[in-house]
Amino acid sequence: MMRKVSTKKSFVYTVDLTTIDGDGAFPCPKCGVIISPDDETEEIYKILDTKVKNDELTELLLLCNKCGSKIKLVGFIPQPES
Ligand SMILES: [Zn+2]
Repeated sequence: MMRKVSTKKSFVYTVDLTTIDGDGAFPCPKCGVIISPDDETEEIYKILDTKVKNDELTELLLLCNKCGSKIKLVGFIPQPES
């Protein structure tokens, strides 16, 4: 019996928010489920990690609950202080 070697390294997809039009929703690069930043139910995705630099969100690591892919969100536009 050959045993399949499972690699611990899982591929992380990167999504650049500056390339997304509209309200910031985007399809999962692997399974195509729409991931909406307004969805806070954690049914579609979970936030694994956030990176903050100078009080600005620079990176978000999401886990797609549907296919298990990790998706790194980059390209956050700094909000001007009002
Ligand atoms: Zn997915």
